[in-house]
Amino acid sequence: MNLTPDLPEQFASDNYSGICPEALDYMLKANYGSAPAYGDDYWTQRAADQFRELFQTDCEVFFVFNGTAANSLALAALCQSYHSVVCHETAHIETDECGAPEFASNGSKLLLGKGENGKLTPAAIETIVQKRTDIHYPKPKVISLTQATELGTLYTIDELLAIRAIADRYQLRIHMDGARFANAVAAMNVTPAELTWKCGVDVLCFCGTKNGMAVGEAIIFFDKALAEDFAYRCKQAGQLASKMRFISAPWVGLLETGAWLHNADHANQCAAYLEQKLLQIPGVQILFPREANAVFVKLPEAVIAALRAKNWLFYNFIGNEGVRFMCSWATTPARIDELVQDLEQTMCNS
Ligand SMILES: *Cc1c(COP(=O)(O)O)cnc(C)c1O
Repeated sequence: MNLTPDLPEQFASDNYSGICPEALDYMLKANYGSAPAYGDDYWTQRAADQFRELFQTDCEVFFVFNGTAANSLALAALCQSYHSVVCHETAHIETDECGAPEFASNGSKLLLGKGENGKLTPAAIETIVQKRTDIHYPKPKVISLTQATELGTLYTIDELLAIRAIADRYQLRIHMDGARFANAVAAMNVTPAELTWKCGVDVLCFCGTKNGMAVGEAIIFFDKALAEDFAYRCKQAGQLASKMRFISAPWVGLLETGAWLHNADHANQCAAYLEQKLLQIPGVQILFPREANAVFVKLPEAVIAALRAKNWLFYNFIGNEGVRFMCSWATTPARIDELVQDLEQTMCNS
């Protein structure tokens, strides 16, 4: 493990990146004098208003520290303990949150569905929902979708509308894990409204950390009734920041300057560039359609080991297949070229 303080840029995850200039600039702007604590401050009000403007609707907005809390608390708000949540088998809430959604909801079970490229299908959802309707099985209440997905793919507007139709048929709510929501908006050239409440999304967890902030997630309830008492839930879970202005001011920086979209677009374009370079190397197989800021490749074990020996850090457990290279706001083409060069060399030698 390379633990130097000046580790060169990596492709393990977008949360390996630093703080983008706009987020940092606004954090410094907020570092003036005193401000009311627990979110009753100027910056938090302004950030919430910016979200209402961005989504072109009167939504309820909450700020928490991280994605695990955002997802878990949002799902808990939609479920009773005897309810269940339908999600893809590769969903972060299932594979990477240590049971936090079940913990926060006092036991709402996750029901796992399959589907190509990390996406749930209406048919898969319907099969799960229809499987049991008796009192002995937890009642399905929510569909959780990740946009962009854990495998770097995107739900199209048509796919989201088809899932909403199923949700309406069975009276299910829709939660969206937007760890890479900005990347999806940038890639699809749609408005945030079109990708959420206009497709029937009830609550969105919009990630700031992976978009360029130091820390912070926004939880956005489009159905305001679902947000009743949600502030208490956040507080009880230890997710109410007392100096909230330092989470909300960077959000203002991202939203006001447009950096949120620019950062995401940059990350997507870097991934496209990386994919195009990788496709030119014989023996490298791209695993899923590259639609946002991740590229998944199948590589021989020896090549993986050789890349690690050259101090490249990356994950190869996501989706249980292949290696994931993730680009961020901070990714540089020069570093992509270095990665590709090392990969090419090790492929030739193996
Ligand atoms: C990163 C990520 C999250 C949030 O993770 P935290 O580490 O808890 O902030 C949620 N969902 C997905 C799909 C992610 O990639």
